[in-house]
Amino acid sequence: MTRLFLDHNASTPLKPVVREAMIAAMDMGNPSSVHGEGRQAKALLETAREAVAAALDAPAKGIVFTSGGTEAINFALGGMARRTQDPVTRIFVSALEHEACLRSAAALGKLVNIETIPALPSGEINGDWLTERLTDYDVQVDGLFLVCIMLANNENGVIQNLAMLSPLIFQKGGYLFVDAVQAVGKVAVSFNNLQADLMSISAHKIGGPKGVGALLTKPGLVLEPLFYGGGQELRRRAGTENVIGIAGLGAAMAALDLAQMARLADLRQQVTEGLRAMNIEGLRIWGEEADQRLPNTVCFSAPGFAAETQVMALDLAGIAVSAGSACSSGKVKASHVVSALGANSGEAASTLRVSFGWDTPVDAAQVFLAKWAEAYQRAAKRNAA
Ligand code: PLP
Repeated sequence: MTRLFLDHNASTPLKPVVREAMIAAMDMGNPSSVHGEGRQAKALLETAREAVAAALDAPAKGIVFTSGGTEAINFALGGMARRTQDPVTRIFVSALEHEACLRSAAALGKLVNIETIPALPSGEINGDWLTERLTDYDVQVDGLFLVCIMLANNENGVIQNLAMLSPLIFQKGGYLFVDAVQAVGKVAVSFNNLQADLMSISAHKIGGPKGVGALLTKPGLVLEPLFYGGGQELRRRAGTENVIGIAGLGAAMAALDLAQMARLADLRQQVTEGLRAMNIEGLRIWGEEADQRLPNTVCFSAPGFAAETQVMALDLAGIAVSAGSACSSGKVKASHVVSALGANSGEAASTLRVSFGWDTPVDAAQVFLAKWAEAYQRAAKRNAA
């Protein structure tokens, strides 16, 4: 059976050019060595850094390679809260952030006060809440602050309007961290235009390997490192670099193809229309009311049809998708994202995410709809019996 992989927001299949670049990097030396082998590896790192900088319109000097999105996020938050000079003492975190961000903020414990920026049912963050909270904010009295807002959500693909929110943050003397892990490769991302102080990215969401990413920083921004040791990455991230992974990240960045996205938006439209045509009671498509959404993501709830059952039935039918909720100790735990959007328990328990990508075939939407409808009808019959 040919498998149909529709879970690109979880991880993308490796692009062939990326695989080739990684194979070519396998026998490289240590980039810190001064001999020819070392210099060759160092040159490869710098080529990859330039590729990231070019793809994301960012200064190459501010890019620090990490072991992925999670490390970049921990480094950004911890680095700002633990730095010796001018540490932030308050972190505003949107309720929609990835767990890497929520938990890394929480782990900073007594160093910072954490405040949650609420979300609107559309999947956008409540900008009015932030505006109101910051209007009378005085960094001299209330402390230096960092605002953490993701560019695009991993579950429903909603894109946040950062251009509207950032001027007030900067005007108040705050810092902005943007988790761009899901946005990169799906929409145009310019670090310079966003004016963010910090931005996280990850290779395995863009046709690159797992376990490598980067933190983009405004040049000159000083952060406390996560790791201490050698002088790699200008002393910002000690440890011999993941040369093979970084080669893969650079190749994946060079191979980004936003022109593909119109094709994926069409697949998204087909899935949305196909689901609507089935007249499913209580069907809810998340993020549709937002101004902007990722072109590759459909997230919907079909109350009464448990997400785990959907995932398993589709897996047996050869299709890989994700549940928008997690099952722990036999109980379905609502995802914090749909909960923040006001989902009721039936919606939360039946949320499915379908995400397309570079290798998705043209008939993917129709194949998905046919298999999903079969599974839905089987479940409906079982429920009625
Ligand atoms: N941020 C977002 C929005 C994500 O979707 C993910 C991964 O799913 C991460 C961060 C973590 O990235 P990584 O898997 O590279 O640690």
